[in-house]
Formats: sequence, C-alpha cells, structure tokens
Amino acid sequence: MVGRFAPSPSGRMHLGNLWSCLLAWLAARSAGGGMVLRLEDLDPDRCRQEYCDQVMRDLEWLGLDWDGPPVYQSQRTEVYAEAFRALEEQGLIYPCFCTRAERLAASAPHRSDGVAVYDGRCGRLTEAERAAFAKTRRPAWRARVPEEMIAFCDLLYGDYREDLKSDCGDFILRRSDGVYAYQLAVVVDDAAMGVTQVVRGSDLLSSVPRQLWLQERLGLPHPAYGHLPLLLAPDGRRLAKRDRDQELGQLQRRYTAQELVGRLAFAANLIDRPQAITPRELVPLFSWDKLPREDQVWQ
Ligand code: GLU
Repeated sequence: MVGRFAPSPSGRMHLGNLWSCLLAWLAARSAGGGMVLRLEDLDPDRCRQEYCDQVMRDLEWLGLDWDGPPVYQSQRTEVYAEAFRALEEQGLIYPCFCTRAERLAASAPHRSDGVAVYDGRCGRLTEAERAAFAKTRRPAWRARVPEEMIAFCDLLYGDYREDLKSDCGDFILRRSDGVYAYQLAVVVDDAAMGVTQVVRGSDLLSSVPRQLWLQERLGLPHPAYGHLPLLLAPDGRRLAKRDRDQELGQLQRRYTAQELVGRLAFAANLIDRPQAITPRELVPLFSWDKLPREDQVWQ
C-alpha cells in the first residue's frame, strides 16, 4: 500500500489541503503503507520553487512525513510526452483550435457540477481544415473519448459512474502552450510512483472516470480511490484559496500544529473533542468507517 500527497504549489497551503494531506497520510500509515510526495508544479505561470519549499516545511510542521525524495512534475515532461505519444498512436488524440470563448460556447453544462462538456467539434475537422487552422493558431490537444460507462467504487462515496462521452466529453491532455494537463500527468505519476491508494477532496471525484480510462489505455494499474468530503467555511461556502484567513500562515497565528491537527481530526470524527494531538497519535484511531460522508463546516 502506498499513498501520496499531491499538492499544487501555487501559493501557501490552506485548510482544505491540510485536511486532505492529514487524512491521506493517516489512511496510508494506519495500514502500514508508504507515503510519497509529488509537487504538482506543471503550470509555470502559477508555480514557484519557493512555494514547493514552503509546502514541504508546512507538511513537516504539521508532523507529516513521506518516503523518498519528492517528485517534481515540472521535471517530468519527457515522461508525459511518451504517454502522450502512446495515446496518439492509438488514434485517441486530436488538435483543438477553439479559443476559450469558442470552447465555452461549444459546451453544454455538465449534469452534476456545472463543468462544461466539449461538443467535440474539432474532432470532426478534415485534414484540410486542420491545416488551415494550424497556420494561425497553436492547438491544444484533446483525448477522443468513447461512449463508455465507467463505474468504480469509492472508499467513501461508494458506487460512482459516469458516461465518458456525455458527462465529461473529449478532455484536454495538453494545453496550446505545450504544458501537459493534470489528468495525464496524474495518471502517469501515480503509476510511476507505485501509488496504490489515492485520497483527496471530493472536488476531484468526477476526474476518476477519465483517470481510469487513461490508465486502461496506457496499460497502467488502477489505484483505489477515496474522496473526502469538503471542509466548508462557517457560512457554508466552499473554502477557497482566496479566503486568506484559512491559509496556513494565518492559521499558525491561532493554533499550534497539534491544535490544528486536533481540530481537523475532530472534524473527521476521529476524536470526540478538538484536543491537541499529533498525527502519530492519530494513526491507531484512524478508520474509514469513522469518516463523515457529508461536507463539514469548519469552526
Ligand atoms: N494537485 C491537486 C490539488 O492540489 C491534487 C491532485 C490529486 O490529488 O490528484 O488539488
């Protein structure tokens, strides 16, 4: 069993990240598993080395450890390129010349979370049309998904299913500036790092069918998935990066590491009052059965 931390170092960690990191760590360590760290710094416009360093200091401050050296996605472009070529050879990729505005206009809202479903129009271009567009625009690259129902059983949410074509649509694997997309990188890296259990926020639940499909196409194993309910602000909103008071720098003014861990563990139903505690002390108290299934308000 190997779990993972996969933070995006685009700023300071916030409460939502800490919640996922603590529970992913507990899920792995309580099963005697390993834990690896991957810094998802693919986007050069948003990620910086200093944020990566800060993420690692913050995890250590909380009392969370990992095995082996951290993996930086920004250093793995060649590996993603290889996976991209493997999909291309299977005829599963096409260039998309739509601008963002056109993409949105060409999309129908997703049934569950309002995410747009691309209508596949660039997948129907002729060679001549492609050549004409290619003279004026650099394309993004999309996976051509089949009409296929993908089902899996989440460790917390239970059965989940999605029809790839109608619920998700052809999705982007590489941006027009050349950056490989999260969906491709995450699948390649989870396999390369030997990850067998993915624990993260339920905002990523609807990514699983795409990831399972890519794993299938690339001949990679499927990890188990557990999606955590989200932490909500006291007024019921989703916590967002822009809520500065939920950033670790601010939280550190109010709480010691053990107090913060205790509050998170209390929200996760692992202890019955928000007392100061270390992650190590929580290891024997962790169980999937105790975790709440509904989003939790942070107090
Ligand atoms: N890097 C993503 C995030 O910080 C997590 C991706 C994942 O766990 O698959 O939201």
